[in-house]
Formats: sequence, C-alpha cells, structure tokens
Amino acid sequence: MSHGMVYLVGAGPGDPRLLTLRGAELLRDADVVIYDRLAPPALLDLAPGSAERIYAGKKPGSSTLDQEEINDLIVSHAKQGKTVVRLKGGDPFVFGRGGEEALACAREGIPFEIVPGVTSAVAAPAYAGIPLTHRGLAASFAVVTATRREDTLEQLARIGAAVDTIVVLMAAGRLDETCSTLIKSGRPPGEPAALVQWATTSRQRSLVSTLSGLPGEATSAGFGPPATLLVGQVASLAWELAWFGAVGEAEGSETGGNLTS
Ligand code: SAH
Repeated sequence: MSHGMVYLVGAGPGDPRLLTLRGAELLRDADVVIYDRLAPPALLDLAPGSAERIYAGKKPGSSTLDQEEINDLIVSHAKQGKTVVRLKGGDPFVFGRGGEEALACAREGIPFEIVPGVTSAVAAPAYAGIPLTHRGLAASFAVVTATRREDTLEQLARIGAAVDTIVVLMAAGRLDETCSTLIKSGRPPGEPAALVQWATTSRQRSLVSTLSGLPGEATSAGFGPPATLLVGQVASLAWELAWFGAVGEAEGSETGGNLTS
C-alpha cells in the first residue's frame, strides 16, 4: 500500500478562527487527526465525523505520550495509507517539536507538508496591545523558552543584552529565574514587562508591570500556564493599545475576553 500524507498543521494560539484556510481545508479531508493539548478543541469539529481523533497532549510535568510515541503514531497511520493531520498549538516549528515529527516522516519516506500557524509568540503580544517592534522603542525581537538550566540561562542573558524585545514562552512557572537573569544581563529592573495568559481566548488575562515587579504580581494574581512573557519598552504601549476585551466582545464572537491589567 502506498503511504498516506502527513500534514503538520499549526492550529493557532487559541481562538479557532485564527487557523489558516489551508489548515481548515486539510482538517476537512483528514482520516486521522492527532491533536495537542493547546490546539483549540473546536477545530476538531472541522474534521469529518468518521475521522479518528487521537489526543497526544502533554501536560507540563506529566506526559501522556512521549515524543517517540507521538512520532510512531504519526508514522504508523501514514503507513496505513491514511491522510494524517497533526494539529499543533500555534506554529508547528516554534517550540512545538514539529521538526522532530517531520524528521520521523522524512526518515520513513513519508511525504509531508508543513502548514504554518499563528504562533502565540506573535499573537499574545498582538492581543495584549504590544507591538513587537515600534519606531524609537524596539527594532529587534527574540523568542526564547523559559528554563532553569544553567546553559540556557546564560544564553538568555546573552540575548537579553543584545535584543530589544524578548518574548518568553513556557514562562509561567519560571518567572523569577527568567526576570532575574534578564536583570543580571543588564536590563533595568524598572523596564516594562507583561504576562499574557490564554491569549486570544475568552480566558485571556494580562498583567503589565516591570521586570522586578512582575514575578510577585503574577503569583499573587494567580497566573499560570499557558502564558507568554514579554520584556521591553514596547510592553508599556499596552496601557494605550490593549484592545481585546477592553473594547468589549466582538460581535458574533464566542471568544471575546476581558483584560485585566
Ligand atoms: N508552538 C506553540 C508554542 C508551544 S510551547 C506556538 O507557536 O505558539 C507552549 C507555550 O506557548 C506555552 O507555555 C505558552 O508560553 C505559549 N502559549 C501557547 N498558547 C498560548 C496562549 N493562548 N496564550 C499565551 N501563551 C500561549
């Protein structure tokens, strides 16, 4: 039997309407959808009723399936001649391990396509009213992941010293280490910093503070994952530009939200 096709599809950051048209088209044609915890559940409704839906989500700390098992699941369904949609939160190639899944296909001779998605690294600032670049304030940005590992903390310090706006994913449990490393790298403790949780969904919340103040305030306000941290002068623009929720629920929207800042 000839191999099926694998589509690594970015599901976008949370609001199901932020899926691409290509992603929607492929979901409608899927035999199997293998989806992540952060892929918007409403998107599964786009797949035919007969399509198999397989949850491959990982919770921080407790993994349901390990990456090897997910790769095997994708490959084995494709080998049965099926059209497999691997639906991943945000963009598949931004901290999504999409590269490993694509390599697993490539090494088994299975054809694949990568469908980019709106990454939370870009959507969280957009929905919080924070331009990543802004004339006079920021001309560069970097996307990094929060970590406690020494070598990556050193890397964060180097980036902190070199880049205007820093977007930190998987930030929720590691705000202290992340913010203090950036301060040690020379960023002013009073520099604006923002945290956005559940961006683009009705559960969106954001907090605008300073590098030194944000970890404590986020803890008292009960912020948890999924959250994106933004550090840079541009974060202060949220006071004027926060539009989501602040302007009320969009007409016909099921995903309006409220913004607390
Ligand atoms: N591939 C994904 C990122 C996966 S890592 C993407 O491109 O968006 C998971 C991290 O993404 C979370 O820990 C959080 O930092 C961020 N994230 C995902 N969805 C989010 C959301 N709706 N709001 C804020 N951050 C989000």
